[in-house]
Amino acid sequence: MPVCPNCGYEYVEGITMCPDCNTQLVEFEDLPKFEELSEKDWVLVYTSGNEFEVEMLKDVLESAGLEASVLSQKDHNFPAPGDLSVVKLMVRKRDVEAALNYIQEAKQNQDDTSDE
Ligand SMILES: [Zn+2]
Repeated sequence: MPVCPNCGYEYVEGITMCPDCNTQLVEFEDLPKFEELSEKDWVLVYTSGNEFEVEMLKDVLESAGLEASVLSQKDHNFPAPGDLSVVKLMVRKRDVEAALNYIQEAKQNQDDTSDE
């Protein structure tokens, strides 16, 4: 049975492209970890030492209708010193391209205002 690796819908035999997102369908058998994949398909799109900056970008993405998630090592109370203050911005795999555009736009706006 063909399955869309992007949105996870199953289709009847004979269909090769997902009508929703124009993604090439794959055989379900070829995708043994599909369920696992669909739950873990978060992609890192941005890192910063500045948590406020990342939260701001998350707001930008969410107001654009994208799912976004902030991962901060500060949540974990690691006792080790070093590079643990890095904050990560994650989005859904299917949203990566759009997210990168929004982030770039937001960063440009930010740079414009800080010039004043
Ligand atoms: Zn699809």
